[in-house]
Amino acid sequence: ALYITDECINCDVCEPECPNGAISQGDEIYVIDPNLCTECVGHYDEPQCVDVCPVECIPKDPNHVETKDELMEKYHTITAAL
Ligand code: SF4
Ligand code: SF4
Repeated sequence: ALYITDECINCDVCEPECPNGAISQGDEIYVIDPNLCTECVGHYDEPQCVDVCPVECIPKDPNHVETKDELMEKYHTITAAL
């Protein structure tokens, strides 16, 4: 999963771009639900939020390191639940 750092300027550009609905407005900055973020695996070649963020504040979450296979598995789990 990816996460949003405190450099987020609350521009709201990333939230509608997430194919998994993993991004939401938090108390101070936007936040990513690591259970829903597949790093866009299954949907796109590149993380859509990273593509649109104007301040580049969305790195990989060191607390949620996942392989591409694991991300694909998460994608299938999320899609099946829809
Ligand atoms: Fe959503 Fe993709 Fe960003 Fe993860 S990387 S939060 S799935 S847009
Ligand atoms: Fe924050 Fe970047 Fe999302 Fe804008 S696009 S709300 S700056 S994380």
